[in-house]
Amino acid sequence: MAKIIDGKAISSEIKQEVKEETEQLQKNGIFPCLAVVLVGENSASKVYVNNKKKACEACGIASLSYELPETTTEAELLELIQKLNVDKKINGILVQLPLPKHIDETKVILAISPEKDVDCFHPQNVGALHTGGKGFLPCTPAGILELIKRSGYDITGKECVVIGRSNIVGKPVSMLLLKENGTVTICHSKTKNLPEVCKRADIIVVATGKINTLTKDMVKESAIVIDVGMNRNEEGKLCGDVDFENVKQKAEAITPVPGGVGPMTIAMLMKNCLTAAKNQA
Ligand code: NDP
Repeated sequence: MAKIIDGKAISSEIKQEVKEETEQLQKNGIFPCLAVVLVGENSASKVYVNNKKKACEACGIASLSYELPETTTEAELLELIQKLNVDKKINGILVQLPLPKHIDETKVILAISPEKDVDCFHPQNVGALHTGGKGFLPCTPAGILELIKRSGYDITGKECVVIGRSNIVGKPVSMLLLKENGTVTICHSKTKNLPEVCKRADIIVVATGKINTLTKDMVKESAIVIDVGMNRNEEGKLCGDVDFENVKQKAEAITPVPGGVGPMTIAMLMKNCLTAAKNQA
């Protein structure tokens, strides 16, 4: 039976570390602050934004909330971002995606100052990740690395298979695994013989958004399985991309959904806010 990697516990550990460091900074007159921008009425986005504000509070990081109506124009949003860019009290800017259809997300991402881009979506930070330069680490991929490392697993020399090649998860997590000296294979919907590729893997990261992408017959006994997926099954229950009940009976370790990768994303966002405040001090 696999060891269950507890994302809730590991994320709490990281948030506690952030809190302690924030308290130290505050003693030196530095007060980390995150600006959270939400446009429109997307109910899932509202939940995410609330969770981020709560995490800020738990870590002693100030958060300023900008909740704008659905009718906000692109120009108005860009103007707000410019204001936040030059505001010295604000260290991090987070614009919750998706944005309403009439606003160009790429333009908005490009408008955020790379020094305040705590989500690591700006091409300058994405580029730094690929070239080994200085920049923020993307939250979900960095959280995945923390889950693996803090559970005591070394990545060096391991066969790592990432299923999914999105800009938010698949590609950046592959770069981070490579940086940790993993031997990385990136798979996608056109990959031939996915089960054979997965069977070689010591570490498998699944980020497809498709229920049961990874099944028991696709993993070896010593595999560490990280499930990034967030789906709703037929009963409306939150579930991942991995056939958890069966894979857990064979693999070495596995993350559950919920309670695996999910809580890590916010913890790493808090870490980036702290880094931003330190860099700007
Ligand atoms: P995308 O839809 O952007 O990308 C999915 C990727 O999976 C694509 O590269 C696609 O291939 C590949 N893919 C789809 N089906 C298969 C298949 N059957 N076999 C192999 N590859 C396949 O998704 P995201 O990366 O944005 O998100 C993935 C999942 O992770 C979602 O469930 C999302 O909700 C979740 N997520 C969770 C986060 C968290 O904090 N826990 C954060 C971000 C995402 P191709 O490129 O060929 O189309």
